[in-house]
Amino acid sequence: MPRPRPRPRRALHGAVAALVPLALLGAFGGPAHAAPEAGWPEPVPVVSRVATTDPVVFITVDDGWFHDPAAAKVLIDRRVPASLFLLPGAYSYDSGYFHTLLDQGRSRVENHTVNHPDLTTLDAAGQKAELCGARERHLAEFGDGPRLLRPPYGTYDEATRTTARACGAKAVVTWTYDLTTWGQWSPPTPTLQAGDIILLHFNETLEQDLTRALAAAEAAGLKPAPLREYVPE
Ligand SMILES: [Zn+2]
Repeated sequence: MPRPRPRPRRALHGAVAALVPLALLGAFGGPAHAAPEAGWPEPVPVVSRVATTDPVVFITVDDGWFHDPAAAKVLIDRRVPASLFLLPGAYSYDSGYFHTLLDQGRSRVENHTVNHPDLTTLDAAGQKAELCGARERHLAEFGDGPRLLRPPYGTYDEATRTTARACGAKAVVTWTYDLTTWGQWSPPTPTLQAGDIILLHFNETLEQDLTRALAAAEAAGLKPAPLREYVPE
């Protein structure tokens, strides 16, 4: 499967998220026009940054294609409670890499869909197949159901937020900073603040990207914390 390159990203989802509940209320109250089915659960919140005064940041690592032992060693030795938004295909050929991370470290596996689509191109049934399908695969492989959804490319719509709830997630999680090195390009290191969510990827530079992110956290007096525990039920 091709690894889509990310678009330039900014954490702009908070503003969008704030508008969605009103849009949904309108959809429920008016004539049916692409409205969620009756009886669907409440849409989950969208989180690009956690509101907290605790001196914490959140390390998240996406996809899972490249299995670098040196990166795993950083996560395990430094006891990083990382959220791993894995694609089932990326552990289908080497699940041991991730079992080691879960068994010897503090990482948890979260939902990143089955096939990495732009979810906004799918209808509700298509999104449900992606989200619930990934949840079932994670459960079967790791014995733990994901509670957070990171939509590929950070793109989502109203159906994503209700479907996420139906598939066991309590939040759609985007990110505050993408600190992934892509090819020759490394993003500038920001001054981190409490509650920031850092996006990394399981690529060839994960070890150095992780080391840089952890150094930035330390420079700001922040420690990595488990994201799942900071997102309310
Ligand atoms: Zn991804």
